[in-house]
Amino acid sequence: MKKRTVDPALKKVLQDFSLSYLTKRRTALEGYDFEELRTRLAAIKDDALDRNEELLARFEENARAHGSVVLRARDGAEANAAILEICRRHGVRKMAKSKSMVSEETGLNDYLAERGVEARETDLGEWIVQIAAERPTHMVMPAIHLTRQDVAALFARRLERDVPEDIPSLVRIARGEMRKEIFAAQAGLSGANALIAENGAILLVTNEGNGRLVTTVPPVHIVLATIEKVVPTTADALALLKLLPRNATGQTITSYVSFIAGPHAAAQYIVLLDNHRSEMAADPAFRAALRCIKCSACLNVCPVYQLLGGGEYAHIYMGGIGTLFTAWIHGLDKSKALAKLCLRCHRCEAYCAAKIPIADLITALAERLNRETGTALWKRLAFDGVMGRPRLQQAAFRVARAGRKAVGAKDGFARRLPAWMKKYDRFRALPSPAPAALTKLFKKEFPSSVAPANAAKGPVTIYGGCLVEHFYPEIGLAAARVLARLGYAVRLAPGLCCGFPPSNAGFRKASGRAFAALLGKMGIDGPVVTLCPTCATMLSKRGLEIDGSEKAKSLAKAVIPFGRFIVENELAAVRGMRKNAPAGLTATYHDSCHHKNLLAAERASRTIVELALGAGIVEMDEADKCCGFAGSYSLDNPEISAELLADKLAAIEKTGAGIVAMDCPGCLLQIRGGCRSRGLAVRAAHTAELLDEALTHSGR
Ligand code: SF4
Ligand code: SF4
Repeated sequence: MKKRTVDPALKKVLQDFSLSYLTKRRTALEGYDFEELRTRLAAIKDDALDRNEELLARFEENARAHGSVVLRARDGAEANAAILEICRRHGVRKMAKSKSMVSEETGLNDYLAERGVEARETDLGEWIVQIAAERPTHMVMPAIHLTRQDVAALFARRLERDVPEDIPSLVRIARGEMRKEIFAAQAGLSGANALIAENGAILLVTNEGNGRLVTTVPPVHIVLATIEKVVPTTADALALLKLLPRNATGQTITSYVSFIAGPHAAAQYIVLLDNHRSEMAADPAFRAALRCIKCSACLNVCPVYQLLGGGEYAHIYMGGIGTLFTAWIHGLDKSKALAKLCLRCHRCEAYCAAKIPIADLITALAERLNRETGTALWKRLAFDGVMGRPRLQQAAFRVARAGRKAVGAKDGFARRLPAWMKKYDRFRALPSPAPAALTKLFKKEFPSSVAPANAAKGPVTIYGGCLVEHFYPEIGLAAARVLARLGYAVRLAPGLCCGFPPSNAGFRKASGRAFAALLGKMGIDGPVVTLCPTCATMLSKRGLEIDGSEKAKSLAKAVIPFGRFIVENELAAVRGMRKNAPAGLTATYHDSCHHKNLLAAERASRTIVELALGAGIVEMDEADKCCGFAGSYSLDNPEISAELLADKLAAIEKTGAGIVAMDCPGCLLQIRGGCRSRGLAVRAAHTAELLDEALTHSGR
């Protein structure tokens, strides 16, 4: 796999951009219910996909009635050939283009250039990347990767004169050059943000005047649009318009919004491109990706995109959503390395205008990639061979525990690792297996099978997951003590894997085996309190996709994260029992991806931490950004994992807090290991541990 490198200057540009984008977006969405808007848009797009052919036919009929010529293209080659044919018919030697990612998808510029038609970009960003002989690296801001100094140097080379580096001067120069292109062109090409079936109009949303010039000045206007852009009515297009600028650039409206129904110029052609989108729409596992309105919000908040940019994290389309389009449009093989770059952190989904479950779709893609293109031997062994076979899984953990001495286990960390593991502990110390598993320790501390024997309240089952069972049993014991003290009959679920790691790695069958083994041994006669949000997601959501049995449904209903259980049921009691914490304890809180983005349990956890410490949380910058653990991600992408951890540690350090609390044992592994490697005097703790200490003793 190609090693992805992080360019510190690009990283800074993209991270600064992301922060200012988030502020602008927040302001632009004030007074609007984003959830309501995007739920409506997703429903419109789903309906339009269900009726795609019918709506396209209606669009065609209405567009023709207004004087447009509508053509269909099955793939990029057909679209390019159709556009060339139009150019030849009208004697076009020069074409001016408004921004069109679809023409990047078909490779139109090169195709036309080889056949004597010069296609010139007139969107500022596209024009810059064209003269730099590069590709767009962002769907909305194609030249986001270039600084104004880069652009000034580029212009100076092209114009063979000195060029000032200030942005207004650069824009003025570019505008002058681009206008010449537009007025010299015999054809203009644009994309479309929506195709409106009821009247055959196209919606075009731009921030620069070039869109209007390109569609009206040259005698021929060509629209290159993909089939999923069709929506039934103008009202539907307006629903899209309400969200697109707000979510894309944090603007309430873009500078130019055009509804074009029929030719302004002598002739208008609309080329409707499929390029495997019909196949994608017919596949229920991937269909949701076609709701995409190319707003790029997912890129703006994606931790990996912020590190690599759209040069590295792209084939043509960028980021997680781009990976999905790449797989369908450009081939599975082109998407393989990209799919491995996604953390499956689900951060993008919280911002997606069309509610696309990008991370889950990438998991589905990983399954397909494993099936159709094979996967690394170590992954087959680890996830299919071991994690997917409960007996082998338990044996592997026993072997790991027996190796404590060999790895120099001390204070919970492994101090001597085999040479092949060095690259994984360079940026964070790795833990050693605990001397005893949680199951054993629990039996010792709570010898009765239902503990405590005199429990006043009904049974509660704790499920810790593999990391708690084998590496951090103290978290499980802390949760058990809290619940027992509150009067619950505490039980411990079997110490088996929930099946998430194989599922995430694309081994669905192995995941199903692991989940079934756990489910078979699990008693469900009360709440199942989880200590790992990833396991909670598996038990409450993903497990149901694999096993639709009544028992799986009961388990899904019973699952509740530890913090939420306490806040919803025992807040007053815990307040009354809490001992005073020593003065001066300060904590910050790290949002684990699944805890926030899938379980929405982050508020409850903050309440627990504040209660435990008797003080408010000092929020860190971008608390909800992944720490870089993400299961086996750090094995596939240690460089990216290290960068993300370094950013997280810097954010923690900046708060000045002595404790960083969290709810995921995976994040704990990463952040605790990072603090240890860097010698940071910050304690990384699970919320259950903090609450247990608060109820047990003062003077901590
Ligand atoms: S899941 Fe995370 S890493 Fe993957 S595309 Fe979304 S934001 Fe990026
Ligand atoms: S996936 Fe969602 S957030 Fe990303 S570009 Fe498409 S609509 Fe926008």
